[in-house]
Amino acid sequence: MSVRTPTPRQYLTTLTNGWRFTLPTTVRKAHGWEAGTRLIATLRGASLLLTAELKQNERPVSTDGNLARDFDGDESTVECYLGSGGKIVLPVSLRKRLGWAVGKRLVIVDEGDAVAVTLCCDAKRCESCSSISGVREIIHNVYLCSQCWNNYLREMHARLRLGKAKA
Ligand SMILES: [Zn+2]
Repeated sequence: MSVRTPTPRQYLTTLTNGWRFTLPTTVRKAHGWEAGTRLIATLRGASLLLTAELKQNERPVSTDGNLARDFDGDESTVECYLGSGGKIVLPVSLRKRLGWAVGKRLVIVDEGDAVAVTLCCDAKRCESCSSISGVREIIHNVYLCSQCWNNYLREMHARLRLGKAKA
């Protein structure tokens, strides 16, 4: 028995000034979201989940009928609105918790019933010192910053010289 899962579609975007990022038109069209659509932003680990509505079983239970208060009390679930051109402002209360920074690249994955947004820099961290500046793919799937790469080359040259001197 096999269940066919369609490969999720991924898009890249950048977190720009004002903590704004853009949802691609394809994603917006697929969900029927347009400028002014009210969205629910939820945290899932290091990802931000965007849905048009809370699922029934995730809806905050209100005992006193004050839904607004319930919403405010739950910091990980925040309302936001889709702006023109698919722009979304990252809700203030989620910024710190996500640890994103303006200028960072984001990956947007359409999961069908939700849209997940995740910081896209893990793959570009230097595997030796975790720096994110000047990092490039040395060989397939191996990322090093220029400093570590140069250190590595110097070390290799030194070893080669040593080998020759011994011979
Ligand atoms: Zn490094």
